Amino acid sequence: MYDVNSKHPDDFINHQEILETLAFAEENRHNEVLITEIIEKAKKRKGLSHREAAVLLDCDIEEKNQEIYRLAEQIKKDFYGNRIVMFAPLYLSNYCINGCTYCPYHSKNKHIARKQLSQEEIKREVIALQDMGHKRLALEAGEDPVHNTMDYYLDSINTIYSIKHKNGAIRRVNINIAATTVDNYRLLKEAGIGTYILFQETYHKESYLQLHPTGPKHDYDYHTTAMDRAMEGGIDDVGIGVLFGLDKYRYEFTGLLMHAEHLEAAFGVGPHTISVPRLRDADDIDSSSFTNGIDDDTFAKLVACIRIAVPYTGMIISTRESQKCRERVLHLGISQISGGSRTSVGGYCEPEPEDARSEQFDVIDNRTLDEVVRWLMEMDYIPSFCTACYREGRTGDRFMSLCKSGQIQNCCHPNALMTLEEYLMDYASPETKAIGDRLIDREILNVPNPKARAVVEENLRLIRENNRR
Ligand code: SAM
Repeated sequence: MYDVNSKHPDDFINHQEILETLAFAEENRHNEVLITEIIEKAKKRKGLSHREAAVLLDCDIEEKNQEIYRLAEQIKKDFYGNRIVMFAPLYLSNYCINGCTYCPYHSKNKHIARKQLSQEEIKREVIALQDMGHKRLALEAGEDPVHNTMDYYLDSINTIYSIKHKNGAIRRVNINIAATTVDNYRLLKEAGIGTYILFQETYHKESYLQLHPTGPKHDYDYHTTAMDRAMEGGIDDVGIGVLFGLDKYRYEFTGLLMHAEHLEAAFGVGPHTISVPRLRDADDIDSSSFTNGIDDDTFAKLVACIRIAVPYTGMIISTRESQKCRERVLHLGISQISGGSRTSVGGYCEPEPEDARSEQFDVIDNRTLDEVVRWLMEMDYIPSFCTACYREGRTGDRFMSLCKSGQIQNCCHPNALMTLEEYLMDYASPETKAIGDRLIDREILNVPNPKARAVVEENLRLIRENNRR
């Protein structure tokens, strides 16, 4: 029985409801009247139900699809402006006792080099990331209760926040680690993490059990209720996602939205972010042996439909995707991207030796952060290194209400410009800096309030004179 409020995952990610939704969407894929009605509802920018969104995802009327893409782009502009939040992953450890069949960290992989960063090594990695200009990190690790203990994570977070180096400081540490207990989530919250990220991988329970044959991650119910426990532990920013390619994308899309609906119903706040990773080749993983891969067009449609269905949820894309693909989906809804990423443990300080690789997956977009920043600005995006919301305590429902009221535009635009100028002064190549300064000068004019504009102008002048407040 579908029950959005239930604490049991079989109720809120209800298999029967997903099948009925998919049948309904399929039946209505050429239903112009219904599709038009759903698009009209979406234009109100209050989101869509999983059923409505599934109809748009299936829609095969070309003209309506173009309308969906245009609306996704417009909603993205309305809620996020042209800012793109920048971050980098930091792999702490690839020790793992799980048996995930798609991940090279699986415990049977005996030839991958297993590593765990010491606190000293974390410092070196973080300094390397700060020297690129990063201010936001996503910590990543396999699941191994002996090596990767909660104490290890807490020490690591503490180490990262305490590193002051030149003008750099990591201001937001997000974390992507295995499902855990309410008490542990509380400890992570107290340590000052930003978003707790955990991908469902697949919402299809039967596939999930097969794809995770051994280890604690095999427990579908425990994994699927992780965000409920995280929120109970006081973490109000949670990031969900599926690994596209494991099961059928229509099923995953519906499950993802039902999960978001459940969190909103149960805690009054939906997910802070949704990630859209696609399965990639990695060490002993051949992605072509998985038969549910999706092409770039389907991927773009998924991003657009998620954007329309949950307009106020950030969307993240990683370097699993090529420059070309990232460019396309940035327009359709992505609000955060990684740049200059290494997916190996210790990879920011030392390149991986060919015979002892520890990467989690092959990075497709290998450009430096400077190149990614320049590329974004050439497309008139503002790469944002801002973490002001978090420092001001605007997380969870407070962030969402700001976002839902459209107010986020007023505070974010000036902050993004000032933090971008700091980045340009401290880290950018001369070419990137010249493009960035021109962009900032144009964008100042888009600060609507004249008083606020004057303050931003004055702050930018001081930053450019290296005289920061
Ligand atoms: N240990 C954590 C957990 O139990 O969920 C996750 C950390 S893992 C470092 C981050 C994510 O990488 C996984 O959730 C999975 O979706 C993704 N991943 C694993 N293998 C992958 C592959 N071959 N290609 C792309 N992404 C992959």
